[in-house]
Amino acid sequence: MNVLVINCGSSSIKAEVINTQGERLHTLTVSRIQEADPFIQLNEAILSDKCTTSGYEEVLSFALHCLVDVLADTPLIGVGHRVVHGGEFFKEAVLIDEQVEATIESLSALAPLHNPINLQGIRIAKQHFATVPHLAVFDTAFHQTLPKRAKHYAIQKEIADKHSIQRYGFHGTSHAYVAEEAAKFLKTDIRQLRLITCHLGNGCSIAAIEYGRSIETSMGMTPLEGLVMGTRSGDIDAGALIFLAQQEGMSLEELDTFLNKESGLLGLSGASNDMRDIIERAARGDERCRLALHVFNHRIKKYIGAYTAVMGGVDAIIFTGGIGENSAVIRHNITQSFGYIGAILDEDDNRNIQLSRNHRVASFAMNHSRVQLLAVKTDEQFSIAKQTVQLVGVDNAINPVPEIPIAISARHIHLTQEKVEELFGLGYELTVKKWLSQPGQFAANETVTLVGPKNKIERVRILGPTRSLNQIEISRTDEFVLGIDAPIRASGNVKNTPGVTLVGPKGTVKLEEGVICALRHIHMTPKDAEIFGVKDKDIVEVEVRNSGRSLIFGDVLIRVSPKYKLEMHIDTDEGNAAEISRGAVGALVNTEGKAVLRKKNLMLEE
Ligand code: ADP
Repeated sequence: MNVLVINCGSSSIKAEVINTQGERLHTLTVSRIQEADPFIQLNEAILSDKCTTSGYEEVLSFALHCLVDVLADTPLIGVGHRVVHGGEFFKEAVLIDEQVEATIESLSALAPLHNPINLQGIRIAKQHFATVPHLAVFDTAFHQTLPKRAKHYAIQKEIADKHSIQRYGFHGTSHAYVAEEAAKFLKTDIRQLRLITCHLGNGCSIAAIEYGRSIETSMGMTPLEGLVMGTRSGDIDAGALIFLAQQEGMSLEELDTFLNKESGLLGLSGASNDMRDIIERAARGDERCRLALHVFNHRIKKYIGAYTAVMGGVDAIIFTGGIGENSAVIRHNITQSFGYIGAILDEDDNRNIQLSRNHRVASFAMNHSRVQLLAVKTDEQFSIAKQTVQLVGVDNAINPVPEIPIAISARHIHLTQEKVEELFGLGYELTVKKWLSQPGQFAANETVTLVGPKNKIERVRILGPTRSLNQIEISRTDEFVLGIDAPIRASGNVKNTPGVTLVGPKGTVKLEEGVICALRHIHMTPKDAEIFGVKDKDIVEVEVRNSGRSLIFGDVLIRVSPKYKLEMHIDTDEGNAAEISRGAVGALVNTEGKAVLRKKNLMLEE
């Protein structure tokens, strides 16, 4: 399976056709795209002379046209586009439709240099590759898990909300990719690791990844905050900018250029934005380059200390990007005094690191180091290709795994016809108050009072139609109120469960058994089960996607029947724990689009 990955920048474009093994089948590079003499290279061939047109759109069209020609024997299953800013809208890669395009456009104010160009690339590529799905992979997506305390700037909230001023974080694809690679190398589930990933390239950022989720990162609302970069300042007292505007009369444009293009390594050294130059000159005694190096390293050390504190410890510190992967000197300078966090550098291993496509991860910590030190070769393009493959089905059909609607089941009762008559009178039949999502099921108008040893709960709804077994489904909190200790069970399995007294308008029923705390479950059709790759009675994990508090529910029972409609049912306690509101959805927790199945000795329906 081959994917075209396109990364459209304002001055250059990189497009690669990548297969699922990560092999590059074709590479297209365009630089100086906005200038009169763009440089275009497709694989070995330099095509600049053949391009008789100019302008971003025209040159990109020409280059993609050339690519189409060489792709005759290389069918694509999709095109993955790198998009810089996904705001708060995109937590993961998405199939691009009109709505997605409009959203990317609406985020242009947050990334004026990137999103409009990214979108232009998408629109032009769609014309050239019209028959395959196009996907957007966002730099910001991975950091959408940042907790509020890390996201918010301490400025007037009304203004911040009005303009969506908050920390988004960037380089997400790289941070996520190297964290996964590190976890694989360490043979440990990423959900058990606290990682600090340092992406040190022309742009630099650092992230704290706690149990698989980004919880802190150094870039903020824009990619200007945080570490010292090639030409970007990183952190600077905002007061200094006000001062500069006053003292130097700098305009906003000038400040923008000053901070983004004339600062960082370049500004400090006065010589270069390229780390190799800086290291070389510093070694020859250039004081300003030495200063640039010291500030660069110090800032990273400071962040690593801070992120270790934020996570209450760290298991591995990872270096990536052109500098992180290649510079033993920088890795040495940053990590040499990390004994205090339990990371002991192995000088020889560090010096000998040579990463390559086939050797992507190398450790440079001593054997007795409690904290791992790793250099990992990042591959954002491959990561985008993988995400594209995941979202696009093998048979060229768009096959995203559907999300599962989540519904909260409030406490309720299922009764036999016999008990209905004992409670409501001879020959009484339940009446429909509201049809439920599962076909044929309804909430009845009738309610009863539950009486337990400690307390009673009034107006507990009966669900119809009547069944062959009496069953009372309550939450743990209800159990505490009633004074009943009921087990967690799948519906229908009430053997050896406690009883309860029901009080209706025409009589009282003392049940010997039937009270359960329902095992959370997902109803689905056989077709759904096929799509999710699960079967009846499997136990899965479900991540709640859009709730107030993020949560992964384990021990979720799959229930398959042609009569069911896709829906996950949890009780009120569980709903509150995740702050679930209307429209909440969940997704099976997975790594490769497949459900994680765990067999457990749960008391399932016979
Ligand atoms: P980008 O962020 O544009 O993808 P890269 O990740 O390729 O950039 O990183 C570019 C940076 O990596 C440059 O500062 C370059 O000097 C630095 N770099 C590459 N190789 C080395 C090396 N062997 N030693 C030090 N720095 C290096």
